[in-house]
Amino acid sequence: MFALLLSAALFATPPVCPADSPWAFQQERKRMVQRQIEARGVSDAAVLRAICAVPRHKFVPDFPAEAAYQDRPLPIGHDQTISQPYIVAHMTALVRPDSTDRALEIGTGSGYQAAVLSEVVDSVYTVEIIPELAQRATRRLDQLGYDNVRIKTGDGYQGWKAHAPYDVIVVTAAPEQIPSPLIRQLKEGGRMVIPVGPSGQSQQLMLVTKKNGQVKRRKIAPVRFVPFLDSP
Ligand code: SAH
Repeated sequence: MFALLLSAALFATPPVCPADSPWAFQQERKRMVQRQIEARGVSDAAVLRAICAVPRHKFVPDFPAEAAYQDRPLPIGHDQTISQPYIVAHMTALVRPDSTDRALEIGTGSGYQAAVLSEVVDSVYTVEIIPELAQRATRRLDQLGYDNVRIKTGDGYQGWKAHAPYDVIVVTAAPEQIPSPLIRQLKEGGRMVIPVGPSGQSQQLMLVTKKNGQVKRRKIAPVRFVPFLDSP
C-alpha cells in the first residue's frame, strides 16, 4: 500500500490548471489552454501551467474579462497589441525555459509575456520603448506580485547590457533584421525567439541558438507582429 502511494506521488503529474487559483476566470484559462494551446501542439507542462496561472484579463483592463481569453490579439493602446494566447505559449515553449534561467524580453507592452516568462524562469528583464506602456506594466506587475520582473524604458535594439548574458531572449516586435546586440547578449547555449521581416507584411518567426560560439538561425513559421520602433 505504502509503495503504491509512493509511486502515485512520484509519477502523478500536477494538473495543468489547478482548481485553487487565486485569480478569477480559472475555467476560462483552462479552456483556453486546452482548446487553443494544447490542441495546437504546445506540450511543455511548465509553460501550460504558467499560462494557467497568469490572470490574462488583468493585462487588458479595458475589455470584458471573457475577451482576454479569446483566441486573438487585443489592442493595448498606442497602436500596440497583446499577442494571441497561443503565440505567447508557442514562443515561450520554443526557448525551452528552465527555472534557473535569466530571460530578456524586448517589447513589454501590457507585461503579459513577461509575467508568463516569470513563472518559468528565475528572473526576467524587459525593455519597452513607449514610456507610458512601461509605466503601466510596471504598476500592473507590482500589483500582481511579479517581483522577479524588472522593466526598463528604452530602445530594445540595444538589449539590456547590464544584466547580460541571457539564457533566453523573447522579442515581441518585428525588426527587419536581428539586432546584433541581442545576439551578443545571448548566453552560450542560449535560445532567442524573434519575428523578423518588413513591417506591414507577415514576418518569419526565427529561433536563434548559440552553441560553441556558433549562431544558428532556424525559421519556425510565418507570423504577424507590430513593427520594431526606432528610438525617437
Ligand atoms: N509582449 C507584449 C506585447 C508586445 S506588442 C505583451 O505581452 O503585451 C510589442 C511591444 O514592443 C509594444 O509595446 C511596443 O511599444 C514595443 N516595442 C516596439 N519597438 C520597440 C523597441 N525598439 N524597443 C522596445 N520595445 C519596443
